[in-house]
Amino acid sequence: MGKASDWLREERRKVLGHWAAVCVDCGHAQRWFEEFESEVPDACPACGGKLLRRCPACNEAFSSMFAVECEVCAAPLRAPTQFGMAIRKPPRPAKPGASGGPAV
Ligand SMILES: [Zn+2]
Ligand SMILES: [Zn+2]
Repeated sequence: MGKASDWLREERRKVLGHWAAVCVDCGHAQRWFEEFESEVPDACPACGGKLLRRCPACNEAFSSMFAVECEVCAAPLRAPTQFGMAIRKPPRPAKPGASGGPAV
């Protein structure tokens, strides 16, 4: 039981070596390593909201900074609509020529 997901988890860990934490309020995201989980803040450094790093239902870490539901148990990690709203709101100065990275 759970063997497939265990295997998947190990594979992901080997490939990525890190997890993602996301703010449920503003969508701020950061990477974290399992060895340094204790250094991951519980509060979002951007807005002070809840920085979610594990599924509240099954305590599984997630690897995507854009995850809206748990990869293992499919529990919702945050409200997608809330996240969509937050994208438009923050006053992000547009830097010409500087992209935030490839959106694959
Ligand atoms: Zn935030
Ligand atoms: Zn879960």
